[in-house]
Amino acid sequence: MQIAKHAVVTMDYTLKDDEGAVLDSSENGGAFSFILGIGGIIPGLEKALEGKTAGDKLSVSITPEDGYGARDDALLQSVPRQQFDSPQALEVGMQFQTQDAQGTQIVTVVAVDSESVTVDGNHPLAGVNLHFDVEVLDVRAATEEELSHGHVHGPGGHHH
Ligand code: ZN
Repeated sequence: MQIAKHAVVTMDYTLKDDEGAVLDSSENGGAFSFILGIGGIIPGLEKALEGKTAGDKLSVSITPEDGYGARDDALLQSVPRQQFDSPQALEVGMQFQTQDAQGTQIVTVVAVDSESVTVDGNHPLAGVNLHFDVEVLDVRAATEEELSHGHVHGPGGHHH
């Protein structure tokens, strides 16, 4: 079948930046499965995959607008060092999960001084042009149960 809304897509992929550095790859965690059209992957990749079938290979470049968004400097925040559980162990590059009204957010420590810590709430790939090489391995319709759970069951997905 062709990839369309509510198809379960299984694919291998390699993601590179403008310089050709590998940012992510299915070689690490195995083939990746997701349900198309429920916000599980970035819009630019969904658009590129629509109409493709198992066996298709594609290379697609995606701007931040269709990827993880532009960087927003308003998401840089200074936080008192003592607000962290282990204030002595803080280092630039560490990532933390925070909970706020908008839900769970990942923040990255970008600066540390004796009093405060600067965290960046931008997605690590915000503002980055994304270059995907994709091989579609399998396409099938999602089951009712998968759609109600919002994730894929079985190989490459949830087991429960
Ligand atoms: Zn489930």
